[in-house]
Amino acid sequence: MHRKTLTELQAGLARGDYSARELAEHFIKRIQSLDPELNSFISITAEQALAQADAADAARARGEAGPLNGLPIAHKDIFCTRGVRTSCGSRMLDNFNAPYDATVVEKLQAGGAVVLGKTNMDEFAMGSSNETSYYGPVKNPWDLTRVPGGSSGGSAAAVAARLVPAATGTDTGGSIRQPAALTGITGLKPTYGRVSRWGMIAFASSLDQAGPMATSAADCALLLSAMAGHDPRDSTCVDRPVDNYSADLDKPLTGLRIGLPKEFFPATLDGRIADSTHAALRELEKQGATLVDISLPSVDLSVPAYYVIAPAEASSNLSRFDGVRYGYRCNDPQDLEDMFKRSRSEGFGAEVKRRILVGTYALSHGYYDAYYLKAQKVRRLISDDFVRAFEQVDVIMGPTSPELAFGLGAKSDDPVTMYMADVFTIAVNLAGLPALSMPAGVIDGLPVGVQVIGNYFREGQILNVAHRFQQATDWHQQQPAFGGDA
Ligand code: GLN
Repeated sequence: MHRKTLTELQAGLARGDYSARELAEHFIKRIQSLDPELNSFISITAEQALAQADAADAARARGEAGPLNGLPIAHKDIFCTRGVRTSCGSRMLDNFNAPYDATVVEKLQAGGAVVLGKTNMDEFAMGSSNETSYYGPVKNPWDLTRVPGGSSGGSAAAVAARLVPAATGTDTGGSIRQPAALTGITGLKPTYGRVSRWGMIAFASSLDQAGPMATSAADCALLLSAMAGHDPRDSTCVDRPVDNYSADLDKPLTGLRIGLPKEFFPATLDGRIADSTHAALRELEKQGATLVDISLPSVDLSVPAYYVIAPAEASSNLSRFDGVRYGYRCNDPQDLEDMFKRSRSEGFGAEVKRRILVGTYALSHGYYDAYYLKAQKVRRLISDDFVRAFEQVDVIMGPTSPELAFGLGAKSDDPVTMYMADVFTIAVNLAGLPALSMPAGVIDGLPVGVQVIGNYFREGQILNVAHRFQQATDWHQQQPAFGGDA
């Protein structure tokens, strides 16, 4: 059963080939036997899952099956789940049981999905390798000595190893797309404002966006249709009708104009990744697309701009963790100041502290204009580049990640090298555009991802491109040997 996509499982459930309970039991067994090696889950919620599965079966029997009825999923541990630990990968929230469900959690549950657990992640979603988690690194199922990418590395590894057919992720600078690329799955970051951020623990509020991670574009479409939509509890969530993202998946690509920014194909790019990207482009050309050379002159500034803006917002968002209201509190505080200081020093890990320091500095009086304001201006230039490009082309493509999955520990002492992992993904967040990563090759036993960027609210179009590609190729069906048929 774990070899099937969500779409196939949906059909199997409808035919009565298996019940939601049987599905949940199968995947829970896989998680319990295989995850000790991967470490992709922080919490397994078997009991709740079985109760949800029984409720799904009962709803189907009454003729009230929602679109996701009985489909097993997992949530990145950044989403609040009522009564269940919501740690955000941090010691700070290790003891935090959320008193409510995030909108995304609520919406997927309303569709009938069954939640098997909460997945591992970089602490407060800061990282590209899942090594900053308080719960230890996640391993890449394609090679257990390598990272799965981050920060949604737990969701990516769990889906790649077929411990769960799909999972949620969040993407602030690449955290859905980069781990999707490094583990050979499909992941979509929607347009900023398309999916509610309510109940999703904030990292950098002007960049954070939740999205689906699954083994195919069709599965991402199914999940996004349920996740998206207006939410009055998030003032940045856009009030605009939600498309049926599954409706246009098969549309022919005839006449599609694909922009290839020269900045996404630097001379230093790994030749094998460039080759896989070009092979994917040739397949799309065969289906009627035309390739257009373009330039996004300001995107080279996206990593430096991001590493001012994201830490600035993080330093503000993380000020709420003070040891008073919820989360970690140090033992035996001497006085109030000691409690603030030690609760934060002991509760946060090194990367989170680095970001708080950088962000506080960038926002401080006298430096604000030089750093934060300057970065915001660069951000506008980057958005303008994309706006101009989309006057000429329908989608923009390139590699998702400059590298294949790297070794555990290979970059953990060098933050700047780690930050470059998102060199092709960050500009999209700064501009607020939708983008996905789809598998487009396997090199030396490691998957390669290709990125498809769309214009604002054109999630349907990039899913269409990815789905057509997946109808003609089988890269998305390739699976790691890990996990076999247990
Ligand atoms: N790797 C980037 C960072 O460390 C992006 C993380 C993300 O998208 N959450 O900030």
